[in-house]
Amino acid sequence: RWSRVKGRLRSSVGEDVYSSWFARMDLEAVQQESVHLSVPTRFLKSWIQTHYSEKVLTCWQAEMPEVCRIDLTVRSPMRAAATKEAPAPAEHRRDEHRPAADARSHAAAPAPSNHDALGGSPLDPRLTFASFVVGRSNTLAHAAAKQVAEGRRGDPVMFNPLYIHSGVGLGKTHLLQAVTWAGNSGTERKVLYLTAEKFMYGFVASLKTQTSLAFKEALRGIDVLVIDDLQFLQGKTTQAEFCHTLNALIDAGRQVVVAADRPPADLESLDERVRSRLAGGLVVEMAPLGEELRLGILKSRVVAARTHHASFDVPQSVLEYLAHAITHNGRDLEGAINRLLAHSKLNAQPVTLEMAEHEVRDLIRPQEPKRIKIEDIQRVVARQYNVSRSDLLSSRRTANVVRPRQVAMYLAKTLTLRSLPEIGRRFGGRDHTTVLHAVRKIEGLVSKDVTLSDEVESLKRQLQE
Ligand code: ADP
Ligand code: MG
Repeated sequence: RWSRVKGRLRSSVGEDVYSSWFARMDLEAVQQESVHLSVPTRFLKSWIQTHYSEKVLTCWQAEMPEVCRIDLTVRSPMRAAATKEAPAPAEHRRDEHRPAADARSHAAAPAPSNHDALGGSPLDPRLTFASFVVGRSNTLAHAAAKQVAEGRRGDPVMFNPLYIHSGVGLGKTHLLQAVTWAGNSGTERKVLYLTAEKFMYGFVASLKTQTSLAFKEALRGIDVLVIDDLQFLQGKTTQAEFCHTLNALIDAGRQVVVAADRPPADLESLDERVRSRLAGGLVVEMAPLGEELRLGILKSRVVAARTHHASFDVPQSVLEYLAHAITHNGRDLEGAINRLLAHSKLNAQPVTLEMAEHEVRDLIRPQEPKRIKIEDIQRVVARQYNVSRSDLLSSRRTANVVRPRQVAMYLAKTLTLRSLPEIGRRFGGRDHTTVLHAVRKIEGLVSKDVTLSDEVESLKRQLQE
């Protein structure tokens, strides 16, 4: 059962997070409604508690619905003194026969197997430059990444760090891994891809095992350090270490590439010095994927799928439909193609528009009608008729104010769900019969008065944009 729970955890958080945080979690006991788990360090315990306690519980409940509590403790042989992220005290553990001098020699020839972190985070072989589609929203990020990837050891570094940010699913991880693949094949440079979580875990683990010197020195031996999802870098000590690494690498002319979901200035949890150092290189934002780029990505996915499924084909009309309808991120585009592939394989049918519409219906975001506010109506109407908003709300009865006021009330009735009394209140406390009168008046006029009907149409368009 425990292994099934672990399996669930692994698939819900992903391999990388799983191996960083849960690989060393053990089951101690199950007592009716509570489960007792243990981890080797306090840091792991508090990390899992603050970030993953819901997840762990849900995974248990999926196997044992009666479980309603998870107790997490630190396993006994661990030093009680190892407070959260504080450097481990200089003492030797029974199971750790590794004197400091030895640790240093590891650094001279870093052996990845000795260091979780320095082994890097797993790379997806599909995320290369060859499969990255360039479009208006990512041209600059792509060019900069390409430049970084093609550099040689000792080349002058042009932008350092290269900082790429965007919303989720817009290709940051793809670009970073492409840099890593390209850098590791061909050149003699050492390129290391690490998620911020992995960096943190590697560093904290090295503190616990007193190998942080080795950790630091090995990192400083990297030619290109690639850090993904920097927004997840947590903890003062880890951040300080990241700052040192960043400074050391940049000062030594090594390249640093970073991706995050926001610009450096918005990484609130990060130290001001780190933020300004990050902002000091090249900061590139990747915009949401435009329709053309979405079409390009869909096409490249079809081409990729055809290497294994030669008979798979998606008509241009279907691709265009998908590119138009799926406004979400790159992951959904990939998902859409996978579904079409699965469906056409399983049913031995060619892909059609109807099939596509049916298969991807949950990925399509319905065009939400824009909620129009009464204030917006008043503002737009006032501007169009060159009066002020307070004129519209006032009791003035001059013709140049009365007509615009009626138009505004008419629009409020037809474009919002507000009731007549509510609209009256919002127009300077008028009676609902006044509003009704205005609505009828304008309704009657638009069918006869072409100028007025044009004005009303134009106002509607402005409000709906
Ligand atoms: P992020 O890290 O920004 O959240 P990812 O790099 O994980 O986004 O991209 C999500 C998915 O979309 C991946 O499958 C990726 O390959 C795909 N994708 C995003 N942008 C592109 C692109 N320009 N060309 C090809 N695939 C892309
Ligand atoms: Mg990513």
